[in-house]
Amino acid sequence: MMSAKVRVRFAPSPTGYLHIGNARTALFNYLYARHTGGAFVLRIEDTDVERSKREYETALVKDLRWLGLEWDEGPDVGGPFAPYRQSERLGIYNEYLNRLIGEDKAYKCYCTGDELQARRDAAMAEGRTPEYDGRCARLSREDVAQFENSGRAFTYRYRVPEKQVIVRDLVRGDVEFDTALIGDPVIMKSDGTPTFHYAVTVDDALMEITCVLRGEGHLPNAPIQVVLAEDIGFAAPEFAHMSQTLAPDGGKLSKRRGAMSLGDFREKGYLPEALVNYMALLGWSPGGNREVLSLAEAAELFEVGNLTKSAAYFDPQKFAYICRRHMQSAEGQYLARLGRAFLDKEGLAVDDEALARLVEMARERMEKLEDLPALVRQYTGRLELDADARTALQEETAAGVLTDFTVRLAAAGSVDEAAVKAAFKATQAATETKGKSLYMPVRAALTGSTSGAEILEIMPILGLEEVLSRLEGAARMTRGG
Ligand code: GLU
Repeated sequence: MMSAKVRVRFAPSPTGYLHIGNARTALFNYLYARHTGGAFVLRIEDTDVERSKREYETALVKDLRWLGLEWDEGPDVGGPFAPYRQSERLGIYNEYLNRLIGEDKAYKCYCTGDELQARRDAAMAEGRTPEYDGRCARLSREDVAQFENSGRAFTYRYRVPEKQVIVRDLVRGDVEFDTALIGDPVIMKSDGTPTFHYAVTVDDALMEITCVLRGEGHLPNAPIQVVLAEDIGFAAPEFAHMSQTLAPDGGKLSKRRGAMSLGDFREKGYLPEALVNYMALLGWSPGGNREVLSLAEAAELFEVGNLTKSAAYFDPQKFAYICRRHMQSAEGQYLARLGRAFLDKEGLAVDDEALARLVEMARERMEKLEDLPALVRQYTGRLELDADARTALQEETAAGVLTDFTVRLAAAGSVDEAAVKAAFKATQAATETKGKSLYMPVRAALTGSTSGAEILEIMPILGLEEVLSRLEGAARMTRGG
């Protein structure tokens, strides 16, 4: 049997910003589609008019693009099943509602919000489940006429058939539910907008979604969606309910523990490659102890059946490690381009050549580009000499070395490797010093320390002028200065 092409969707409600938890759902859908050569659909679930905001949709589109999770169909790119924004599909929901009403599978419910709440409270107090009691499913003609005449607002509820439902879940296996335990859900609200269950069911079917991959919090919704789909005459999709992401201590992710919005991560200069990599490891493993991988590599290795059932924990140390690994391997030009904005923000002017060198020195010590300005300052700013550096300058020969070396570099007019080496050679001969006595005063003068950055590396970054000025400053601190 030929299996149908995989079609998956990410269906965010634009009621807030994306964070690692929900962006991970988008990522796994993307990986599943790319691995199988299927389609990745973006559908905006904006039927909750009060909570949905266009600015959130704009932000999440920007965030997904930043991560590199391009979709094949969606509100902005279109596709064969457009529109992809639920608020533009109200006519479709009405059409199927009328069908359900015609077949007596949906009915009007006149219960008010207050009445429903009071009954829920009473049920809870008596230890019963607070499901809808089905009262409007059994109204007499007279009751209906009375409600209609009084102009009562109404919703439509779906008459859930009593049966055992199997939810086919690629992560959890077949999960069986008894629908007798499920109250009839509202499918159309009194304002004429569909509820989540209903819109999702209709859209997943019409958009030919083959597998609904989403957070495990939605598992209890799956049986309703399966029976509803079948009652409308659709084939129910498969599901893959992935585990949650929790904070290291098992609590909910909080802002300080990984639940920053993706926009926050971007503003701090985290690399999207690192985020995508880390998110992919939350509940999935490429196998072979492999941890560092690109989006394309993850897509190649991804198997939906390998998603874990157990919760994933956000691990700040592992996250930092993955971030550093991507910093180390990223293209220098790419880092320089991103890093420039962070230097500009702090008024640090560095020319392109120096920036390229600074990035090479700093990348080993950065987790995010927000760390760059401090490192640049450390490499280029005014120096505080540490105790060892001050001791090195107290050596008898230090003054002579610094003065001679300064003159030779100034004459060479360059701090490239050849000029620096030639200057050292000449100073060595002229001052009859070598080894530590020759190099330490220079190193102390340039870096403020007797260990750390290599002299040959740091000079081109500082530039000739800064080198000369540091050498002269240090010469004044020597015994002879
Ligand atoms: N709009 C729903 C949410 O954001 C999507 C649920 C689903 O994937 O079915 O939770």
